[in-house]
Amino acid sequence: MSKFDVVVIGAGPAGYVAAIRAAQLGLKTACIEQWINKENKPVLGGTCLNVGCIPSKALLDSSEHYYQAQHDLSAHGIHIKECTLELDAMVKRKDGIVQKLTQGIEMLFKKNEVTWLKGHGRLISNKQVKIQSRHESHGPMIVEADHIIIATGSVPRPLPTIPIDRNMIVDSTGALEFREVPNRLGIVGGGVIGLEMGSVWSRLGSEVTILEAMEDFLFFVDEQISRESLRTFKKQGLDIKLGALVRSVEENKKDLTIEYEDKEGSHTLTVDRLVVAVGRKPNTEGLIADEVDLYMDESGYIHVDEYCSTSIPNIYAVGDVVRGPMLAHKGSEEGTMVAERIAGHKAQINYETIPWVVYTWPEIAWVGKTEKELKAAAKEYRVGVFPLKANGRALAMEEQTGLVKVISEVHTDEILGVHIFGPFASELITEGVFAMEYKASAEDIARIVHAHPTISEAIHEAALAVDDRALHM
Ligand code: FAD
Ligand code: NAD
Repeated sequence: MSKFDVVVIGAGPAGYVAAIRAAQLGLKTACIEQWINKENKPVLGGTCLNVGCIPSKALLDSSEHYYQAQHDLSAHGIHIKECTLELDAMVKRKDGIVQKLTQGIEMLFKKNEVTWLKGHGRLISNKQVKIQSRHESHGPMIVEADHIIIATGSVPRPLPTIPIDRNMIVDSTGALEFREVPNRLGIVGGGVIGLEMGSVWSRLGSEVTILEAMEDFLFFVDEQISRESLRTFKKQGLDIKLGALVRSVEENKKDLTIEYEDKEGSHTLTVDRLVVAVGRKPNTEGLIADEVDLYMDESGYIHVDEYCSTSIPNIYAVGDVVRGPMLAHKGSEEGTMVAERIAGHKAQINYETIPWVVYTWPEIAWVGKTEKELKAAAKEYRVGVFPLKANGRALAMEEQTGLVKVISEVHTDEILGVHIFGPFASELITEGVFAMEYKASAEDIARIVHAHPTISEAIHEAALAVDDRALHM
């Protein structure tokens, strides 16, 4: 039986980072991964690299170029006579990026001497994992470790009333693989995936209808940004129906008939393809043998404390399989923290400063609290808002939709939240994260020199606006 200091189960952004960091710290490390890609090859990288963050952003970028070439360039005096779409080439580009990155992890494993054990891992005791290779003939193998890190991620939450058939009804993975642009695309769930995949296919020419069960659009986002972004996305062509509850889906020969209800009554929608994106659930299938007494909560998450320690002292769990936002960067930081704590370091994570991004265009990004959350907690705060239509760079880019909002504590002026709707919000939000991590005040940002002309000046102006002294408004 092979013996390791650390065995990680799962090689997504939580698991592969944990494995690399553990190996960097001199621990003999193995990582078990079962993923088989569409070419039938074992690969590393998990959901994020194979069917999540990376392929979705590749298609978001390509589709945005296509849309801009068709609709936006004329404002710059550029006229394109014929703009055609080669979807195969777009998908091939996406697949190439995925391949480059997943092979990159393989190289990093080799460089850091992390042993990749291919197959399905099952925890059979507090220190042992049984690995079943996909080749039945190989038989199971058992490895022993002083420390085990579970990083098995998440899978799409199924809707029993709308089973995925991987043809006409698909989940987010299927929505990355359409071989032609559906004329009419339905999406159940108007969350992050619904908006990102809806944006991709709408830009490429689909008539997209999003059926969202909640009455509030993006209920977890700043209310002003939720209102303004809803208006913008509808203008872009996304038909977003709020408070829409799907009653039935009928598969016809060539299309699908969806019956749904909202507060105005019953409606029928016909689409060519349907994407179900109603959240994800922790993945613990076949993971834990009955003899192992690992505590899970009622939603199926592995229960952990702030340091990702489970109910068993030498077993840790990180990433989507534990509480907190299902975000790649959150999982990676947890993986790093756990590896460092196993090596005797005093690592920790500040969960209050994890940034969120929705990669629509314009992008939505935020860190910290929303006004709604602060009101609910009876916290006193001040707000500064700066609209992008008053920002020189935004105008130069023909990107004047959006705003920046800075929220600070009323007495100390400490920044409690930064919310951005605008171009490159995903990059700009790091200023807010940095500020909050160092407990900066709005006044601190107001006194920092920001380059001109940049969109970041809108953060500067929003910070000035907290004290009612924005200069360009
Ligand atoms: P995963 O990435 O799910 O990896 C878990 C790995 O464990 C998998 O490879 C799985 O095969 C393996 N595994 C599971 N069980 C076993 C077992 N028993 N034995 C062996 N191996 C096992 N997040 C962002 O931060 N930014 C984004 O832009 C973003 N975009 C997304 C877009 C889409 C379409 C989707 C679906 C998700 C997106 N996410 C994004 C979320 C992000 O992908 C996840 O938060 C992240 O992948 C979680 O990392 P993880 O390592 O915890 O789990
Ligand atoms: P989500 O939680 O963002 O959105 C799901 C939406 O579906 C919600 O608005 C919910 O109200 C709605 N819903 C639930 N049941 C419904 C029903 N029966 N009918 C209609 N609507 C229903 O989940 P998601 O979009 O599936 O994404 C899953 C997770 O993946 C996200 O929470 C996020 O953590 C991660 N992700 C992140 C990014 C990013 O960081 N940019 C991108 C994609 C995914």
